[in-house]
Amino acid sequence: MAMESEALPLIHELSLIKQQQPFPKQLPFQLYKGKFGGFEISLMTSGVDPLHQVDNVATIPATLMTYLAIEKLQPELIINAGTAGGIAIKGCAIGEVYLSKGTFCFHDRRIPIPGFAEYGQGSYPSYDTADMAETLSLKCGAVSTGNSLDLLDKDMEMIHYNGAIIKDMEAAAIGWVCQLFAVPLFAVKAITDLIDDQAPTQEQFLDNLSMASQNLQTALIDVLNYLNQKFSN
Ligand code: SAH
Repeated sequence: MAMESEALPLIHELSLIKQQQPFPKQLPFQLYKGKFGGFEISLMTSGVDPLHQVDNVATIPATLMTYLAIEKLQPELIINAGTAGGIAIKGCAIGEVYLSKGTFCFHDRRIPIPGFAEYGQGSYPSYDTADMAETLSLKCGAVSTGNSLDLLDKDMEMIHYNGAIIKDMEAAAIGWVCQLFAVPLFAVKAITDLIDDQAPTQEQFLDNLSMASQNLQTALIDVLNYLNQKFSN
C-alpha cells in the first residue's frame, strides 16, 4: 500500500504489528505483520519521504518496495491495495471497491518507436479475480498506472486504449516486478475520485480518502476470507 492513511484501518482491524523493518535503514518503507486464518500477512506501506515529509506515492517507491518484499518476504501472492480514480461514464462511483482484471498498463510512458511503444504501455497480468468478484459482489476492471494524480488529454486517450476504468499511481509498476519474479498479483482499489468529472481530482481525493479507505478495509477482509477458504485445504 502506498499511503499510511489507506492502510491504517486494515492495520487496526487485523491488529497487525509494526516490525523492525528488515531493509537497509536508509529506506523509508514500513512493514507490519499478522495472521489471518491460515495466512501470514505482511503489509508494507511506502513510508514518508524524508525530504518532503509526505507518503512515497507513485511508481518509483512501489517498484523498489515490491522487489524488497519479494526478496525478503517471499510472498505467495501480492495484493496492491489502495485508492484510485474511476471513470464515471464506465459506471464507477465514489466509494466503490474494484478488483483488478486483465492486465496492468501504464498511460504515461509514451515511446513512439516500434517495440518501445508496447514496452511503455506495459501490460502485466492480474491474477484472475472473476470468481472472487462474483462471490464477493465486487466490481472488477482494468487498472492503468501513471506518475501523476492529475490527467492530461493524452493520459485519458491511453487509459481508454488500455481498456482501463481505474487510474492509479502504483499497480503497473508492481506488476512489472511481479511478472519478472512470477509472483501472482491483483489489486483492490477503492474509488476516491472520478477522473471524467468536473470537480478537481485533488479535492475529491482528499474529501473521500477516509471513507474510501474504510470501504477498502471492509473489502480487503472479504478478500482475505475468500482466499483463506479457497487455499485452506
Ligand atoms: N495529496 C495526496 C496525494 C496522494 S497521491 C496526499 O498526500 O494526501 C494519490 C494516491 O492515491 C496514489 O497512491 C494513487 O495510487 C491513488 N489515487 C487516487 N486517485 C487517483 C487518481 N485519480 N489518479 C491517480 N492515482 C490516484
